[in-house]
Amino acid sequence: LYILGIESSCDETAASIVKNGTEIISNVVASQIESHKRFGGVVPEIASRHHVENVTIVLEEALKQANMEPKDLDAVCITEGPGLVGALLIGINAAKAFAFAHNLPIVGTHHIAGHIYANNLMQPMEFPLLALVVSGGHTELVLMKEHGSFEVIGETRDDAAGEAYDKVARVLDIPYPGGPRIDQMAHESDEAIEFPRVWLEPNSYDFSFSGLKSAVINYQHNAKQRGGDINPYHIAKGFQDSVVEVLSTKTLRAAREFNVKQVIAAGGVSANKGLRTELEKIFNEEGIPFFVPPLKLCTDNAAMIAAAGTEMFKAGKRSGWDLNGRPGMELRSWND
Ligand code: ATP
Ligand code: MG
Ligand code: FE
Repeated sequence: LYILGIESSCDETAASIVKNGTEIISNVVASQIESHKRFGGVVPEIASRHHVENVTIVLEEALKQANMEPKDLDAVCITEGPGLVGALLIGINAAKAFAFAHNLPIVGTHHIAGHIYANNLMQPMEFPLLALVVSGGHTELVLMKEHGSFEVIGETRDDAAGEAYDKVARVLDIPYPGGPRIDQMAHESDEAIEFPRVWLEPNSYDFSFSGLKSAVINYQHNAKQRGGDINPYHIAKGFQDSVVEVLSTKTLRAAREFNVKQVIAAGGVSANKGLRTELEKIFNEEGIPFFVPPLKLCTDNAAMIAAAGTEMFKAGKRSGWDLNGRPGMELRSWND
């Protein structure tokens, strides 16, 4: 089973061919980070324009690197949502045109299901499974009882983890996207400013990061007013310590409560060294298998879309030619 995946929901244009949902044959990503950097974030109009320029190129490159032709494929999987509507539509229309021309079915796929299924490319997912999804737009704990079944047991009430990283980076004058640089600075620092941990209600699996972000901004502001020294490395480590402690503590509590067989991390922030190290440590001690994809599969790519889409395809899911972009699409089970 050879599936072509296409992803264009934000600022990466990507195409990939995956065999049986588990084996990457080719994986091509064109990132637009350089174009958005000077604006301090993703500019939707610019993103759309780049997707138009790149989508055919990455698609052809994915076939070329796989040494395959369209007739060797079984289906085309495309990110249906969530994401920027203009960006989504370019991938969707490219997928439709390609699929129509080569007489292939199309399967609209959820971007976050994709992030989760990046793990299936590394080792088989085992259920019940708990996924910590931490990305630019999402922070959630997802319980999966089988393939295609998603139950969101907790989510952020304000900022996503990646969003908090990028906003704090901005305060520290670090260019977009600041997550990787803050991670690096935290590692180079031996001291940490003490910032609050936001736990919410005792039983809640929800998250909140906007208070932490404000605490960082206030600290910086007050220190400046006092004319004191500001050490951005200590701020970076203090911020990261708070984020990592809250994420990992809640993930452990949920893993225990739901008695899961496997814990995985997914999304751009799961590339974070501090978070990976802490999760590996606590689940090693707990005796629950923990996995996180290699960095290339944590951030946006199309192999993850093909991986999730393959399971949908196997479950008989197909989209019509009226498939449309869904910017606010919710993560729903596809098996009921
Ligand atoms: P979503 O998947 O929610 O639609 P997105 O696709 O924009 O959002 P991703 O590409 O999954 O998000 O992740 C990008 C985010 O990951 C950015 O906010 C970036 O700062 C963050 N990020 C990447 N690497 C790291 C790191 N090492 N530490 C912390 N954050 C990181
Ligand atoms: Mg991105
Ligand atoms: Fe993403």
